[in-house]
Amino acid sequence: MLDKKDNQGQTWIKNQVMDQGLCTGCAACVGLCPYQKFYRDQTVIVHECDRTWGRCSAYCPRGQVDLNGLRQAMFDSADFTPELGAVKGLYMTRANDPQIRDRAQHGGTVSTMVALALEQGLIDTAILAGREENQRSEGVAVTDPSRVASLAGSKFCVSPTVAKFNEASQDGPSKIGVVATPCQALALARMRVYPQPGDEERINNLELVIGLFCGWALSWRELNRLIREKVGSAHIKSMDIPPSKHQIMELHTDNGIITIPMEEVQACVRESCRYCYDLTCEFSDLSVGSARSNAGWDVDRGWNQVLVRTEKGQALLDLARSRGLLEFKAVPVENLEKLKAASLGKKNTCAAQLEEVSGSKDDLIYTRREALLCQ
Ligand SMILES: Cc1cc2nc3c(=O)[nH]c(=O)nc-3n(C[C@H](O)[C@H](O)[C@H](O)COP(=O)(O)OP(=O)(O)OC[C@H]3O[C@@H](n4cnc5c(N)ncnc54)[C@H](O)[C@@H]3O)c2cc1C
Ligand code: SF4
Ligand code: SF4
Repeated sequence: MLDKKDNQGQTWIKNQVMDQGLCTGCAACVGLCPYQKFYRDQTVIVHECDRTWGRCSAYCPRGQVDLNGLRQAMFDSADFTPELGAVKGLYMTRANDPQIRDRAQHGGTVSTMVALALEQGLIDTAILAGREENQRSEGVAVTDPSRVASLAGSKFCVSPTVAKFNEASQDGPSKIGVVATPCQALALARMRVYPQPGDEERINNLELVIGLFCGWALSWRELNRLIREKVGSAHIKSMDIPPSKHQIMELHTDNGIITIPMEEVQACVRESCRYCYDLTCEFSDLSVGSARSNAGWDVDRGWNQVLVRTEKGQALLDLARSRGLLEFKAVPVENLEKLKAASLGKKNTCAAQLEEVSGSKDDLIYTRREALLCQ
């Protein structure tokens, strides 16, 4: 398998990822040596290193990745769909607990399953994203299930979640669950399937990955500029993006809801997200996004769509159902095809962007074009 070709140390990361605008801020290269740090929403090099091998570059989701090798190693090939990766089932769910739903981004499915996994001892630590001042996000390790709901809600700037996993996984044997965006889940998949010498034990601690659908994340600097312009000093409680036909972002503030036209929000998207092929977090046990259907946003708001990808993911979802923690509703028949089309749309956009910067139709910097589809 060719997944190690790019492991060429920090110089490679700097030249091939950071300087090319490809760094996703997943923070997989942070915490494995003292020379990379996370600052605001960026991974920065604080000391140059000339080693030609390093764990810093080994797990980068923008290193040359053998996507099909990873898929074959992690999933049942009988479940493969070209557009969405492994799919055992698609569900529509929301938390039964109204207190979780109140705090959650959509239906609170993620918070419900994380808390359940902790309660059941399936994991003993959950790595989640906490909100810091001014829309900054931090990785938080949680062991108490009653704390999970307090970290619910989407942070639209990247969180150094994988750095927190790197830190927690070095503390001896444990069972860690991570809530991850697609780029973070890909970094974790590279760790799992191709651990570097000396890293095997630490990575064995990774027990569960709950993935988030992700269209893009926002640049911290640009988001704060936009917020200053639109809401001044009002406190922002949460943000939401209704389906694309509404063409707005909602900021929920102490003074009510303020809407921002989507074209202004799009201008704040991180450059690296334009080179990202994965909408539905293909390298997770189950992935969760907002619900969408022909019934419209008034009906779908407050619900999630869930793609189950592994037996472990299925078992957790089934347990949440049998305990009455999640409410389920029928998934409209057309939803799977719609999700496939949306996922394919992101892959095609990403391929077009990468084609432009690489000058090649097939060799798309971190992957070959054909590998964007799951085979
Ligand atoms: C940057 C970003 C972009 C997204 N884009 C889309 C999209 O285009 N389409 C779509 O359907 N869904 C998207 N989502 C997912 C969606 O916003 C919800 O996270 C998902 O529907 C789960 O909802 P929930 O109510 O179950 O989550 P909750 O119960 O509220 O739990 C959310 C969990 O996500 C974690 N989290 C929050 N922000 C981050 C972050 N930045 N990085 C890592 N973990 C985080 C929290 O710690 C929490 O555990 C996006 C999420 C993020 C963070
Ligand atoms: S591992 Fe993540 S944070 Fe580090 S260079 Fe690669 S994309 Fe950036
Ligand atoms: S769009 Fe891709 S690169 Fe950007 S935050 Fe989401 S998963 Fe990461």
